[in-house]
Amino acid sequence: MRRVLALGVAAAAAGAGMVVAFAPAATAAAACQVDYKVNQWSGGFTADVKVTNFGTAITSWTVSWGYAGDQKVTNAWNATVTQSGSAVTATNVAWNGTLASGGSTSFGFQGTYAAANPAPAAFTLNGVACGPDVTPTTSAPTTTPTTPPTTTPPTTTPPTTTPPTTVPTTPPTTGPTTPPAQNCVATAICDGFENQTGAAPSGNWAVTYPDCSGAGTAAIDKTLAHSGATSLRVNGAEGYCNHVYVRNTAILGTTSNVWYVRYWVRHTTALPAAHVAAVAMRDANDGGKDLRFGGQNGALQFNRASDDATLPEQSPAGVALSAPLPVNTWNCVEFKVDGRDGTIETWLNGTSVPGLLEDGVATHDIDGQWLNRTWRPSLTDLKLGWESYGSGADTLWYDDVAVSAMRNGC
Ligand code: CA
Repeated sequence: MRRVLALGVAAAAAGAGMVVAFAPAATAAAACQVDYKVNQWSGGFTADVKVTNFGTAITSWTVSWGYAGDQKVTNAWNATVTQSGSAVTATNVAWNGTLASGGSTSFGFQGTYAAANPAPAAFTLNGVACGPDVTPTTSAPTTTPTTPPTTTPPTTTPPTTTPPTTVPTTPPTTGPTTPPAQNCVATAICDGFENQTGAAPSGNWAVTYPDCSGAGTAAIDKTLAHSGATSLRVNGAEGYCNHVYVRNTAILGTTSNVWYVRYWVRHTTALPAAHVAAVAMRDANDGGKDLRFGGQNGALQFNRASDDATLPEQSPAGVALSAPLPVNTWNCVEFKVDGRDGTIETWLNGTSVPGLLEDGVATHDIDGQWLNRTWRPSLTDLKLGWESYGSGADTLWYDDVAVSAMRNGC
């Protein structure tokens, strides 16, 4: 039996900065050591995992563990992480597979949990146990060690002293550069605005008035948020030249041809009868004209700026197949724009909206007008704001914005 010790179960209680180290005992050569460091908040966490190889040099690695809780890994960096039930497997990416004897590497991931987030009891490296008091096995035990040593301090990273908070306070060092927004999968944008400190949006976000500027304004808001304490507030005014957007150009660019956009929006005034837009995305394949998402006749709609096509068609039957955007509550808006076949699907609070579905087959009242020509979008920015082409003013808050190549969910 390979005997190793579990050292430093430093903070078993829920809280940020939980660190668990699995280290070799002095009397036995262990193949590996795994340091598993967690920052968590209500319902979510990030983990930083450092792997040290005590065996012979290897050119690829797989680290496996089991969760005793209901943790679900949602996205990872510096490793490919897959999960089946409670079993999790992390495999090196192309550039970090080589580990010399005594060498180490790190990877990280983000996850969710509902009830509890206990650290894994054991890890394996290429099938060999790093965990406490177990024989080499390819499936890690899922129970926690019953007799952790009480007198030996951790040999590796000490627990941080950061108190638990309701939002993550320490971004992963090699992953997302801002605290993650709620429920993001592999993303180009994953932003809850929590790192914004001033009134003017900064970093990847900038206020823009594409054509003319007037009464519309946008600012960071610390008084109302979907998650955390910060959101983006847009004071949208009536009339085209009062438009305002807050623009982000990190939108997968040329690396993707499908865009899943997800955001939460809270607004105060029902969508007007007149045409308005709240979101606009520049389409490099459509003369740089915007794909717009907003409303008309009181319901949500897409509008293609290049030819003014609408989805759905603005017949009473078409409008009835879309949906209004409820006021004074946070709404989860998701849509997919697929540059490969030009299709669009839209979800409001998790439910697909039939009038906002362009499936490539022309349907009267819905996407007949949209499909009057071939359209293969290539989106290069995301603009959140308010643009009114006739009448209609609104105050809106945006939060937890994500753009990715996969659906994020709410
Ligand atoms: Ca926020």
